[in-house]
Amino acid sequence: MDIKSLPLQELTEVLVARGEKTFRAKQMYDWMHVKLARGFREMTNLPETFRDECGQWCSYTALQAVQVQESKVDGTKKFLFALSDGNMVESVWMKYRHGNSVCISSQAGCRMGCRFCASTLDGLARNLTPSEMLDQVYAITLLTGERVSNVVVMGTGEPLDNYDNLLTFIRMLTDENGLHISQRNVTVSTCGLVPEMRRLAQEGLQITLALSLHAATDEKRRKLMPIAERYSIAELMEACRYYFQCTGRRITFEYSLAEGVNDSDEDAELLSRLAGPLHCHVNLIPINPVRERNFSRSEAGRVRAFQNKLEKNKINGTIRREMGRDIDGACGQLRRKHMSVLRDFGGKETC
Ligand code: SAH
Repeated sequence: MDIKSLPLQELTEVLVARGEKTFRAKQMYDWMHVKLARGFREMTNLPETFRDECGQWCSYTALQAVQVQESKVDGTKKFLFALSDGNMVESVWMKYRHGNSVCISSQAGCRMGCRFCASTLDGLARNLTPSEMLDQVYAITLLTGERVSNVVVMGTGEPLDNYDNLLTFIRMLTDENGLHISQRNVTVSTCGLVPEMRRLAQEGLQITLALSLHAATDEKRRKLMPIAERYSIAELMEACRYYFQCTGRRITFEYSLAEGVNDSDEDAELLSRLAGPLHCHVNLIPINPVRERNFSRSEAGRVRAFQNKLEKNKINGTIRREMGRDIDGACGQLRRKHMSVLRDFGGKETC
């Protein structure tokens, strides 16, 4: 049993069934999710026999940092973590004026197949458990020694393709018995799984939902994202409207600009017509070229012209400050590089 993936109530039920008092669960939850203990050994106010027993009937996840890259430009740090089965995930730590933000992965790999994205090149290895998502935040808190105030689920993976684990993760991350991060400071980014977006709308959460739109017509979107074959933009917009209606939270559109593909004035005009009625904010980001893919980033002037066009149509568009450009490589590249090293060495090499 993966004990760090259990919400307090479930943990209590499990421990009570094993003959423990309820306060034991609270103590243990506190060690795992507030004090961020790296193992049972650190839980010094719990009886030693109890800790030894726990080690026998449950597992305790703790990520190993394999590599840390730090940007000389803005202090952004990129972490590569090894999971217990040898899979790896990337997480990014960004320092902003309003607090520290961590971008976490929700899956090892991804099966969505977006044509510009490195995370999906080798497909999906597996879903991450709630504890493996929490641990990215916990490990970074311990390694930086600084409190995390914002969490964005925008690393490798499609969070809504790992729905149940994502929901447990969000509830535990924002639980007052844990790190108690405000739900308003949690953002989940999706490539647009319509049924799951609708389900998420009904969960009673106050998180921000970001939709990776990247194109304003079905035809263009299908060229960039295979998921567009399954759901039309009209269905997506209906799901966005529903999300807003249920939660009162405005959706953010993510729009990565690829030169000559989706960055014309006409594209901006069509995008405005989608964003306007929903009062969406648009995040613009010049595409990060991936070696295996054939896209070039739009030039700065084109990006500004695109933003101006949106603004003329009264749409708020932010050009995302690219953090850690000197260490970056596109989303998923660091993990890929390391996983291929592992493959080349027959999976035996440890980095
Ligand atoms: N699967 C989720 C979250 C992961 S990707 C989603 O699709 O939203 C986070 C964001 O980065 C998405 O908007 C994604 O489309 C974008 N992205 C991925 N690779 C990129 C690249 N090479 N350049 C620019 N944006 C990229």
